[in-house]
Amino acid sequence: MPLLADVAVPVPLSQAFTYEVPAALAGEVRPGARVLCEFHRRKLLGVVLAVSERSAAIDPSKIKPLAALIDARPALPAELLSFLQELAAYYFAPIGEVLRLALPAIEREQVRALKAQGELDGMLDLGRAKQVGGRKVAYASATDVVEEPGTLRGQAAAVLALLRANGEQPVARLEERYGNARSALKKLAERGLVALDEREPPRDPFFRLPEERDVPPELNPAQAEAAARIDAALAALSAPGSAAPSVPGSAAPSVPGSAAPSAPADAEARGAAPREARPAGPSAFLLFGVTGSGKTEVYLRAIKSCLDRGRGALVMVPEIALTPQLVARFRARFGDELAVLHSGLSDADRHAMWASLHGGKVRVAIGARSALFAPVPDLGLILVDEEHDGSFKQEEGVRYHARDMALLRAHRAGAVCVLGSATPSIESVALVRRGKLAELRLPDRAHREASLPEVALVDLRRFGAGPSGDPLISLPLHRALERTLAAKEQAILFLNRRGFAPSVVCGSCGNLTTCSACSVALTYHRGRRRDPRPQAPAGAPAPGAPAPGPAAPLDERPQGGLLRCHYCDYAGPLPERCASCGSRTLLLEGLGTERLEATIAASFPEARVARLDRDVAGKDRSQAILARMREGKIDILVGTQMVTKGHDLPNVTLVGVVNADAALGLPDFRAAERGFQLLVQVAGRAGRRDRPGRVLIQTRNPEHPAIAFAAAHDVPGFLEREIRDREEVGYPPATRLALIRIDAVDEGVGRGAAAKLAAHARTCPDGLARRVEVLGPSAAPIARLRGRYRFRVLLRARERGPLRGTLAALTGLMRDGIDRNARVIIDVDPVAML
Ligand code: ADP
Ligand code: ZN
Ligand code: ZN
Repeated sequence: MPLLADVAVPVPLSQAFTYEVPAALAGEVRPGARVLCEFHRRKLLGVVLAVSERSAAIDPSKIKPLAALIDARPALPAELLSFLQELAAYYFAPIGEVLRLALPAIEREQVRALKAQGELDGMLDLGRAKQVGGRKVAYASATDVVEEPGTLRGQAAAVLALLRANGEQPVARLEERYGNARSALKKLAERGLVALDEREPPRDPFFRLPEERDVPPELNPAQAEAAARIDAALAALSAPGSAAPSVPGSAAPSVPGSAAPSAPADAEARGAAPREARPAGPSAFLLFGVTGSGKTEVYLRAIKSCLDRGRGALVMVPEIALTPQLVARFRARFGDELAVLHSGLSDADRHAMWASLHGGKVRVAIGARSALFAPVPDLGLILVDEEHDGSFKQEEGVRYHARDMALLRAHRAGAVCVLGSATPSIESVALVRRGKLAELRLPDRAHREASLPEVALVDLRRFGAGPSGDPLISLPLHRALERTLAAKEQAILFLNRRGFAPSVVCGSCGNLTTCSACSVALTYHRGRRRDPRPQAPAGAPAPGAPAPGPAAPLDERPQGGLLRCHYCDYAGPLPERCASCGSRTLLLEGLGTERLEATIAASFPEARVARLDRDVAGKDRSQAILARMREGKIDILVGTQMVTKGHDLPNVTLVGVVNADAALGLPDFRAAERGFQLLVQVAGRAGRRDRPGRVLIQTRNPEHPAIAFAAAHDVPGFLEREIRDREEVGYPPATRLALIRIDAVDEGVGRGAAAKLAAHARTCPDGLARRVEVLGPSAAPIARLRGRYRFRVLLRARERGPLRGTLAALTGLMRDGIDRNARVIIDVDPVAML
């Protein structure tokens, strides 16, 4: 019988394809290895899922041999490979696309080897695939040697002058500027005027921080209890008879056939019954600890305990929380035993991190969502910090939820999983109630002196505008800011709208200016001001700066600035006239962070005001702003969500939530949950150390549960009530959802496809039996985005099985029963509902 390999190729099809393993490669081709294979007369890079000796299920003459083997050692260890297959099945995602999430770049060496074998002739994807490794960067620097006057001309003279003025430069950068830089440098080097030097490119910025080992603090009783229970779970894992750690290259565990949707996946994904072989006792936890309660310290102990038992650990944090400060805390404990994975890495650095994990040199990985796929060796522990955070859900391509999948991966690997949060997601709380997660609580802040801030609600229906004249800067908020400044303390003002004014409205006819490609209002961004207020010492009036008076009319026609769409890339000038009636009176309505910053700066001329949102902040800029805040060089920081997470700012004693209602009105069943989490997280920024903090929440809706419970610091109370509400309205976790997203340039095409999908869902067996409820088709809340009309069909069921049955029926229809001009996406356990 022939030796056959099931290979997943990067095409949007769910199944794997069968190839013959040539005799020369027998014994070398293993699951998880990349191979070159011919696919419709192209050569593609595929991943071997399984190898076996069997008779082919299809005409043997149609089976092609594998063209070449890329990885001598499988790029995907068995544990990771089988997890990825389960993930693909769970989300109805093409296996080739799922594997791509975890595959490393190709090493140049590997490409060279293939070229030598002649395999790359007439190719292919591989030539264009990312390649890394073996690259050094050449640097040039001026020596102390002085040339004889008048002996250098042209570019040689210019290059030397530049090196002397600016110091060492990469040769590539010189070449950008001087076409003949290379020959000029050669000449200069021959004369001893310049030294050339080849080096590895600079390492990841997270590693440039000095590493100082810390001394672990003594745990308080709650932390000690949590750490002990996690430790016990880790001990149980490595005890004899428990699930063996999966060693790369060892016998593959039983994996489902090529990505056939498998029932166990969905049970396991939400932390269902642990494996039979595993000893009793929980291995998945919810660490529920108020902000500042010392969750990170518990993570650090858990990782230590995991490493001591010879296993590797994976830490996932929201992208926004992955800051140098956080990484420094982990490095202070684990030094170079830590790989940091983040979106800012160069391909070479990313690959270096990957290789050090894959090779077992480093056993701890920390990163955002995509770290889920890190090849951590002998995985023993997965930590998900801020598990409630929405950024764990990927909203394009393969729409996976990294927190749910962390539970699945840990379960399959025989590892412990810890989800941590101050505001746990309703999903995780439901898992605790169903006994799938064990709860660990840290009820108090770690520093005994640090108490939770006092929270006051400001009812905007009762309080008018303060001296600034803006109704959203109420008198109580204004006074609180004054007191904070007088005490030389810091304040944070949170507003989750970027830009200057969220909408532009015609003063005559009321027409709202919307994006031509999306059905959303355009936001006016004023952009950089030409007269930035100088950083004058407090009290000294800025000379000559025409600071607007406190009540300056903000809706007078602005100079410059742009209208931007926050959903597509559109940016254009503010129109002269209303597009509908031609009137010239266009009003800038509402308050965005830009305008808030300007208003606050004008009302508190002695304060140093800064803003932190996506518009001012590239990666480095936001760090710089937070550093200035920490150093006390900013008095009032205005910002969006970016100010809410994970920054330890001990001198902040006032947090103002400018408009708590903004997030609560969205047409999304999680709006209250998200609003609540946001309020608690923002409030957690106040008074972290020995200073009592104060939080002012401005709202027109003080009795809204999200606001009332947040004001009372009553997280369990909110969770209790929200779970009950969800049960009543039949939303997760009481039910399970899948959202079928349909979009098309042509409205009729989209509508037609949506109708067809909904009808099919209703008439498939699970639909007919009413085990699955089909809601829609309907237009999406944002009915048009980037020029495409959007529709949806929502599937809802009490049980996972029927939902999967319906989705399977729909995938059949999607393959050949739907207009090709309509795009259909299955979103299992959807998060973004707009
Ligand atoms: P969380 O992650 O729960 O928000 P952190 O781990 O950041 O909390 O802890 C808050 C602060 O308390 C940090 O400054 C941390 O160093 C400190 N801390 C944590 N645990 C202890 C402890 N057992 N003893 C003293 N300080 C601690
Ligand atoms: Zn008008
Ligand atoms: Zn748009």
